[in-house]
Amino acid sequence: MRLKFWGVRGSIPSPNNPENDRWRLKRIFEAARGRGLDSAEELDDFLSSLPRHLLASVGANTSCVELCSGRDRLILDAGSGLRNLGLTLVRRRPFTESEFYLAIDGHVDLSAYQTSLLEGGDLRLNILLSHTHWDHIQGFPFFAPALVPGNEIAFYGRNADQLARALELQQSSPAMFPLSLAAMGAKLSFHSLPPEGRAFGSLYVRALPVPHPGGCLAYRISSAGKSLAYVTDYEFADSDSPEAAEFVNFISGVDVLISDTQYTYMEIVSRAGWGHSTSFSALDLAMRAGVKSFFLFHHDPQHSDAELLDNLDKSRAYYQMMDDQGQMKIDLAVEGLSLDF
Ligand SMILES: [Zn+2]
Ligand SMILES: [Zn+2]
Repeated sequence: MRLKFWGVRGSIPSPNNPENDRWRLKRIFEAARGRGLDSAEELDDFLSSLPRHLLASVGANTSCVELCSGRDRLILDAGSGLRNLGLTLVRRRPFTESEFYLAIDGHVDLSAYQTSLLEGGDLRLNILLSHTHWDHIQGFPFFAPALVPGNEIAFYGRNADQLARALELQQSSPAMFPLSLAAMGAKLSFHSLPPEGRAFGSLYVRALPVPHPGGCLAYRISSAGKSLAYVTDYEFADSDSPEAAEFVNFISGVDVLISDTQYTYMEIVSRAGWGHSTSFSALDLAMRAGVKSFFLFHHDPQHSDAELLDNLDKSRAYYQMMDDQGQMKIDLAVEGLSLDF
């Protein structure tokens, strides 16, 4: 399987800020001190030697993860990261000069031309929604494949009617967004995931409800002996409850766990009941489940890159303290990062 992170934030897209840039630049200059770097080649080698987090930010977009196995693809959530994923799935031919003049003379409807510039009306895409809080669906109005007639996009989640209502609602009026869901071009369908799960080609998906205001589904996806769990937006008030035990069983032994870790252990004191986990509480469950690789995900929009990396260090230290023989890998979900497993 191959996973790629297209959006890793929670709650709202959170573009980079000047303090973040300054923090990164300062560390790059520190690393460059005394290195000479007089030639372009030396500079290229130096840049290649830097850790990833100094070359790009952790990411601004909200939840969206792509999972592929061979030719089979699943999209997990439709946060703002979905927009960039969509641009890789359509082909766009250039706007010709004659079309440009026809458009500006008012002879043709420009919006119709914009749609006709998108090619590839043979896509069959499946989007699994954890739930329909805005940060998990807000990318869909900007999803280019949805504009192309001939494409088919199927949504899966807890309840088909509720999914359809939420998606329609965010495009329900030109006062909110100019294009309605029905006018997007692609054929859309909404489905409740059956309790026993279902196969999408070689990918088998099962779901488990997890505690979150309004509800949320955790997904476990398996293919060819490998497995991944995607668990965004959850909070167990009591980690010894039967529900938590059922959750531990659900994620048992997965190769990769992508987990909500929105708050630090300091913040959760004032945010208990908001429906999110800390990395420590999530790691406790992951350890019980024998997870092999853990990604901190659904980063709080208030957290800078420096704070997220600090939380990663503290999370690794906490795990070491709890299990000094442990082999679990712990990393930050970073926008643009892909992983084969
Ligand atoms: Zn969320
Ligand atoms: Zn939520």
